[in-house]
Amino acid sequence: MAKQNKPIRLTKSNTRKYSSSSPSRSSSVMKTKPSSLNYKKFLSERDFLKVAKRANMVQGWSLSSIDFAGNELRFLVNSVTRPGIKYMIIVQVNPIDKSVMIDKKAKLYKILQDAGLKVYCGCPAFSYWYSYKAWRYDYGIFPERRFPHIRNPHLRGFVCKHLHYVMRLWPFLSRQIAKQFRDYWTKEQLEQIDDAIEYALKGIKIDF
Ligand SMILES: [Zn+2]
Repeated sequence: MAKQNKPIRLTKSNTRKYSSSSPSRSSSVMKTKPSSLNYKKFLSERDFLKVAKRANMVQGWSLSSIDFAGNELRFLVNSVTRPGIKYMIIVQVNPIDKSVMIDKKAKLYKILQDAGLKVYCGCPAFSYWYSYKAWRYDYGIFPERRFPHIRNPHLRGFVCKHLHYVMRLWPFLSRQIAKQFRDYWTKEQLEQIDDAIEYALKGIKIDF
């Protein structure tokens, strides 16, 4: 699982590669079904492993990157029990139509807030208690086929305390990132128009 720690560089070719409209994104290994669970669902379980109470102990987080083409956010969240250790959290927002992204009348923050999400946390708890359920119920990012027979045989809960904490921030975060998403795609659209004009001026026949 070394792959997940590599930040994705947003070069133009990567943007195309990771774009949700690109067929190259769906490989035979990765499931591409969108998630039907939103942040409220992740927060709906409070009691299992006292996750809501333990999420109160989480302190210190940062948004480390946004991959606009992949609708993916990465965070670093401090471990509660191991000082100096940070866990990487990944949140993938279900694909949103580009026309919606650039539509100033669309309430993009609300769309982001209510969207289905796929999640991952690098902590041991997520791996041992939740990653199988996450993959099976299409809200996981990485495949996990080992059923948690001993730790979570009834597949209770949804996420670890770190993700629970980040999900509480989600309504706030979706407001913060909506503008960034819109700016990115607006710029992308303008660049595409520029490119098209440039080609046209060169007298090359291009297909719109
Ligand atoms: Zn965690």
